[in-house]
Amino acid sequence: MIETFITAFRAGHSGCRGTCDCGREFFNPDVFVWDFDEGEIDALREDDSTVELNYAVQYIKFMNREYVIDCNCWRAKGTEVMNFIDHHGPQIAKYLNTERERKIHEAEQVEIIKILSDDGLKKPEFDDDIPF
Ligand SMILES: [Zn+2]
Repeated sequence: MIETFITAFRAGHSGCRGTCDCGREFFNPDVFVWDFDEGEIDALREDDSTVELNYAVQYIKFMNREYVIDCNCWRAKGTEVMNFIDHHGPQIAKYLNTERERKIHEAEQVEIIKILSDDGLKKPEFDDDIPF
């Protein structure tokens, strides 16, 4: 379901106005929540290319792009990605598990740096000869 996709890929921030990846601007003129400049809301309303919302502008992010959730431009691509995920669950799990193992192996090759002092508090140890 697209709602599940939105929940999973929600960007986690919102605002009074924002521009989608496609260039379309959205805004929420709730003056009890947001601070707008004098005349800003009127200018946004007069611009036929903007979209007024009665709630905060929220975003979804996937494939390195950030879209306004209320924009329709991302829905076809989002549905395509969602269908890919839905139909390749075992392959995606295998990929993630294999990558997890590879990254763990890679991390194990890195020398551990001691960061605890004698009193058990975290304290980085630096060589005094190294200039910072
Ligand atoms: Zn858009």
